[in-house]
Amino acid sequence: MRRIKKIREHLTRFIAINPSYCTACWECIEECPKKVIGKSRIIGHKHAHVVKAEACTGCEKCIKACPQQAIIELPPIYRDYIDRPRQYKREDWQRMVINLLG
Ligand code: SF4
Ligand code: SF4
Repeated sequence: MRRIKKIREHLTRFIAINPSYCTACWECIEECPKKVIGKSRIIGHKHAHVVKAEACTGCEKCIKACPQQAIIELPPIYRDYIDRPRQYKREDWQRMVINLLG
């Protein structure tokens, strides 16, 4: 469950942030009008993560702002994972993340 919580820190209903590609330039934070994205506090690997998923409107300003293509549109097929997370097993989440973020 802890791992799934970690995964959800990179998702809203509309976007997914890939921390592996993030270079912590914070452009997405500047651009997001809803303050959805914040700075991670992990020592040794700074990256952007989702801090207020429910506020995301899907405006895609963060996607356009990211110079590393670290933020992608969440395919609509996965929105139900966000809306009804308990409907999905751990394996479903793992498969989803591998498909999405590699
Ligand atoms: S899609 Fe818009 S509201 Fe959502 S995180 Fe990106 S910039 Fe913010
Ligand atoms: S714009 Fe992209 S590279 Fe810069 S902090 Fe956001 S996700 Fe990371």
